[in-house]
Amino acid sequence: MEIRTFPCDAAIFCTGGIGAVFGRSTNSVVCTGSAQSALFQQGVYYANGEFIQVHPTAIPGEDKCRLMSESARGEGGRVWVPKQAGDKRSGKDIPENERFYFLEEWYPKYGNLVPRDVATRAIHKIVFEMKMGLVGEPAVYLDVTHIPRETLDRKLEGILEIYEKFVGVDPREEPMKVFPAMHYTMGGLWVDNENQATNVPGIYAAGECEYQYHGANRLGANSLVSCIYGGMLAGPAAVRYSHGLESGCENTSPAVFERERVRQQDITDALLNQHKGTENPLTIWREMGDIMTEHVTVIRYNANLEKTLAKLDELSARFTRINLQDRTQWANQTLNFVRELGNMLILARVITMGALARNETRGAHYKPDFPERDDANWLKTTKASYNDGNIQLEYEPIDTSLLPLRERKYTAKS
Ligand SMILES: Cc1cc2nc3c(=O)[nH]c(=O)nc-3n(C[C@H](O)[C@H](O)[C@H](O)COP(=O)(O)OP(=O)(O)OC[C@H]3O[C@@H](n4cnc5c(N)ncnc54)[C@H](O)[C@@H]3O)c2cc1C
Repeated sequence: MEIRTFPCDAAIFCTGGIGAVFGRSTNSVVCTGSAQSALFQQGVYYANGEFIQVHPTAIPGEDKCRLMSESARGEGGRVWVPKQAGDKRSGKDIPENERFYFLEEWYPKYGNLVPRDVATRAIHKIVFEMKMGLVGEPAVYLDVTHIPRETLDRKLEGILEIYEKFVGVDPREEPMKVFPAMHYTMGGLWVDNENQATNVPGIYAAGECEYQYHGANRLGANSLVSCIYGGMLAGPAAVRYSHGLESGCENTSPAVFERERVRQQDITDALLNQHKGTENPLTIWREMGDIMTEHVTVIRYNANLEKTLAKLDELSARFTRINLQDRTQWANQTLNFVRELGNMLILARVITMGALARNETRGAHYKPDFPERDDANWLKTTKASYNDGNIQLEYEPIDTSLLPLRERKYTAKS
């Protein structure tokens, strides 16, 4: 394995979400946020890290969670649990009048189509507070069995096949078992709204890795729109920037690039030569993912967020004692993973600090101790910066001149 530098005048980062910070998520396993964290550590602001979206209907898996798309509910899929807690019958054997369609009952106007954060919290309430989850499993049913098979095959074949493939059950015949999972990162690298430029000249970002378009909550299907629009701005802006430079990278002393290459090589060598380490990187990653999922996703309490920060301190200390086991210099995936893990630990801290500071409820960020949206104090963007190993938060006002603020309400009857 070789570390090389690629000199350029401008770079656009499109490195996606950060699901791996939460261990298992619906994201691809390559979405570690490592690049965002590396940029953050080199001076780029990270904005609204605390806004993390959990998707209500995922299929839990050992390696990662698979998404059961909203289109299942869009086509008429219904979410329910047995009325009688502990009912041992299989879903298809439970008659209609013994089912509790809790989203339809609690949110009559929107029913199964309430936004992700509302559905997610409702499922958590059913499973953890009301103890009405399916027997032995933190799960609820997502049911499409009442929709004609021909319609399902025409409209939902792709997503139903995912369930069939990973669970081994035909969802046209039996209700699917689903549970919420971390899904999307509303926050990300700070960029301006004209050029997708970060605060470091020549560095641009577009797509899920940047923070700009979704505030505290992303609506379904809006990510791809923001990716396309962000890319449309970032591309020409990066070209304009490079053309406008008086002197580009071709006139920069090679020593500048060599210095960074050596710095990176030293980090790698130190990891490879750390023979006395006792810590397993996968264990550290799992512990980070578990505590982030437990305390920094659906429901957030300040005491738990503080506990999470303390745990991240402990994990960061253990990270310095990692034993790589695999020391080969050829396709060493553990080495790559460990370097990413170091970056993930820093991003986890940014997310948790942002969540701890924001004493309100807004979009996907929900604190039972502060249940209202507090525009007077918190209608602002969190901007985290990194200085000498310390993370600092500051805030930026939000321009609401084009869209008047109004309360988000889903409990209306019609
Ligand atoms: C299961 C699922 C279903 C979804 N469905 C929808 C939908 O229906 N509609 C919608 O709008 N949105 C949807 N989303 C969200 C949307 O797909 C993503 O937000 C979007 O694809 C992100 O695109 P991106 O180009 O920013 O990042 P990605 O598509 O994630 O691409 C990031 C790329 O960067 C690479 N990369 C990452 N780190 C590094 C690194 N350190 N060095 C080099 N390369 C790196 C990765 O390998 C990857 O190729 C869904 C997301 C998931 C997970």
